Amino acid sequence: MNLLSSLQRPSIINRLSDEDFDLVIIGGGITGAGIALDAVSRGLKTALIEKSDFASGTSSKSTKLIHGGLRYLKQLNVNLVREVGKERAIVHRLAPHLVTAEKMLLPLFTGGTYGPMSTSAGLWMYDFLAGVKGKDRRKMLNRQETLDKEPLLRSDKVIGGGYYAEYRTDDARLTIENIKTSARFGAVCLNYAEVFQFLYENGKIAGVKCLATPENMAFDIKAKYVINAGGPWVDQLRGLDKQQEPQGKQIFLSKGIHIVVPRHKLPLMQSAYFDVSDGRMIFAIPRQQTTYIGTTDTPYTGQLQQIPITKTEVRYLLDAANFMFPSAALSLEDVESSWAGLRPLIYEEGKSASEMSRKDEIFVSRTGLISMAGGKLTGYRKMAEKVLNQVARQFKEQQGVTLPKCQTDKISLCGGPFKDELEVAAFIGELSELLQNKYALGRQEAVYLTANYGRQALVILEKMDDFEGQAQQKLIRAEAWWAVHHELAFQPLDFFNRRSGRLFFYRKSIGEFAPLVLQDFAAYLSWDEETLGRASQSVERAFREVISFVEP
Ligand code: FAD
Repeated sequence: MNLLSSLQRPSIINRLSDEDFDLVIIGGGITGAGIALDAVSRGLKTALIEKSDFASGTSSKSTKLIHGGLRYLKQLNVNLVREVGKERAIVHRLAPHLVTAEKMLLPLFTGGTYGPMSTSAGLWMYDFLAGVKGKDRRKMLNRQETLDKEPLLRSDKVIGGGYYAEYRTDDARLTIENIKTSARFGAVCLNYAEVFQFLYENGKIAGVKCLATPENMAFDIKAKYVINAGGPWVDQLRGLDKQQEPQGKQIFLSKGIHIVVPRHKLPLMQSAYFDVSDGRMIFAIPRQQTTYIGTTDTPYTGQLQQIPITKTEVRYLLDAANFMFPSAALSLEDVESSWAGLRPLIYEEGKSASEMSRKDEIFVSRTGLISMAGGKLTGYRKMAEKVLNQVARQFKEQQGVTLPKCQTDKISLCGGPFKDELEVAAFIGELSELLQNKYALGRQEAVYLTANYGRQALVILEKMDDFEGQAQQKLIRAEAWWAVHHELAFQPLDFFNRRSGRLFFYRKSIGEFAPLVLQDFAAYLSWDEETLGRASQSVERAFREVISFVEP
């Protein structure tokens, strides 16, 4: 049975309700996805349940960097920088097509927060803690070298720059590839299934009650251990655990937004990390035919599913970009997409949102519910290792079984394997040639397909032949087919948003091809007219919402 096809949802639900599991994980963000892979690869019978789509929480709304977090160095959080810094290289090795090395430019200018000496020392320390070697180590640039790297920088104020190594990714794809890889090892994962109650035996948690929303079907999953990886919902889930003691530490939600502008409006030659007048720093990152800018860091207490973006927040990012790249003269009308996410941080008394630590923590309730909160995309594998080590200790005590050690540093994610970046580059070359010869598409599509799907792009390419019409049309339909049959996409938006990133980085293609993709979903999933109408409305709504900003 293909456990990653949305056509198989009834069989997946049967398995979840009929079988006994060692572990059930609540939450299909990067935290839950990483835990699923660690657990199943140590031999645990594992289930993962996500109430909406995989990665629909914070894990599709980050800055999409696998980074050591230079700002944490400023907060003297040396251990965090060391741990996530080392982790970058491991995650890159596991999926070099999806986690790619990229240089970041940190411009220095008169009146800025950093001077050349402190930046040089800070970046040296950053490299040292992360184990960055050889030519990848930071370089300090003089004024002209900095402007050569990025001619759009304001030349009147720039005095130099730091040039250092980071990694970029797509957060939603990283999450989904972890889920798919865990399914390859035997984990049973389901989206659109919400946990609404816990099961207990002798006062201890013994599973969960779920509602599969499209089927409106409630079912139980029995498991020896339950892990709450609910991100911003962690406390809500802890609240469902009725027999537990009053909650100790709480989650604090900090909101961050990003905006996307057309590449030709901000044609950066490379990614930059720069000062804002309030002492914060933001990123501007070129991706496909766009550049995205972010982020903000403000306390949030609103509803969690739909996070509104205010015009003030958008203007804050536009002003910052216009200050650093004045010739761009960006305005609200230039914004062609956006997203907002919530950082699930561990609350610390007396600290502001941006001062609060990004470290992760595990809470275990009296009933045995294991909750994991805080942390970063970058540290997901280590977080999973920590929580599984805890489960392994309990497993040994309670079941008398010794679990193997963590293996995930050796497991290539789906889409690979690639030995290194050179092999990825060669693959892009081959794909370019195929696309060019068969469909008159070019390198741009080859880069996009490789970053998104790795070697799986070849199956998508083959599928293109089954569709009629122009090449872009065949491509999007083949991708949508892949998403439904091999990545558990159940709604067209799952595809436009989290499987392909088109809603953010190629929104125009949705305007052009959404009706075709909607028809395909309807055919694959046997929808009636009413279901198709609802799906169509939700695509239209999302298409509008990414450029609709509220007054504060
Ligand atoms: P989520 O991704 O939110 O996953 C939790 C999931 O649980 C959700 O999908 C939710 O639907 C599900 N769930 C909740 N309740 C239930 C239930 N009852 N039943 C079933 N499922 C349920 N980190 C980096 O390393 N690099 C960055 O560049 C970076 N940038 C960031 C920028 C911003 C603006 C933000 C907000 C965060 C950023 N982060 C970054 C941090 C990183 O994105 C988060 O730490 C990470 O995505 C959190 O993942 P998660 O799985 O814990 O939470």
